[in-house]
Amino acid sequence: MPELPDLTVVAEELERRIRGRTVLEVTTPAPILVRATPAALDGLVGSSIGRPTRRGKFLLLPFERDGAVDQVLAANPMLAGRFWLTTPGERVRARTGLRMRLDDLELRYVDREMLGKLYLVAADGLDDIPGWPEMGPDADDPELTLDAFRQRIRRHPGELKPLLRNSRFVAGIGNAYSDEILWEARLAPFRRRSTLTDADVERLYEAMRRVLADATERLRALVPPEIQTQHREFLQVHLRGGQPCPRCGRELRQIGGREATTFCRTCQPPF
Ligand SMILES: [Zn+2]
Repeated sequence: MPELPDLTVVAEELERRIRGRTVLEVTTPAPILVRATPAALDGLVGSSIGRPTRRGKFLLLPFERDGAVDQVLAANPMLAGRFWLTTPGERVRARTGLRMRLDDLELRYVDREMLGKLYLVAADGLDDIPGWPEMGPDADDPELTLDAFRQRIRRHPGELKPLLRNSRFVAGIGNAYSDEILWEARLAPFRRRSTLTDADVERLYEAMRRVLADATERLRALVPPEIQTQHREFLQVHLRGGQPCPRCGRELRQIGGREATTFCRTCQPPF
């Protein structure tokens, strides 16, 4: 699942490669993924690409006319959605939800699980997207200070792993980076927020910021120009069950299937 670091770097690469390009044609081979009418998609032709950004687990692609943002494509790739930059003649993969021709390049959205959603909304229409108005601050938002984090976490009870993944609390963290952050903070994924000391909360906050910033920096070196490739090879614990903990050497525990949680029972004690 693309998370904050992945989508940040994809947005940066799209800015380098397609910002300012003119939309020549838009088609939807798998229209089920796209929340927009054919007329609205046709209406993008002739507009130009503004500055791509990320918010939570959405990639935002603005379309400009006369220098002002007119429409925004908000893409939530969920489990397996990927953007590709190809030439227009390249073979179209199965489960391609969107093709957008931009001069000699084509932006495509491919989703092998068909779980993602692409919303095309007016520049002021992001609040119409399900979940958008309730979204908390981005986990890397400069305004999310330690004090602000302390105040927010008081309102969100429950276990730490689902808490970190809850976009109403903080936005942009999924299954992989929640494991990484909790290992870095030495907190068990099943610990309840109510058991945390002030020092624990501070360690969690610092770990969240450090893990996301370090991953974004690594991905900037790894991802471009292949924006469709998700890099997870540098993660410390996620999906490394059975391997030694990089900190203490004890075997990492992994539970659950597709949405697995990996942790160290020594470094991340249950209380
Ligand atoms: Zn350990």
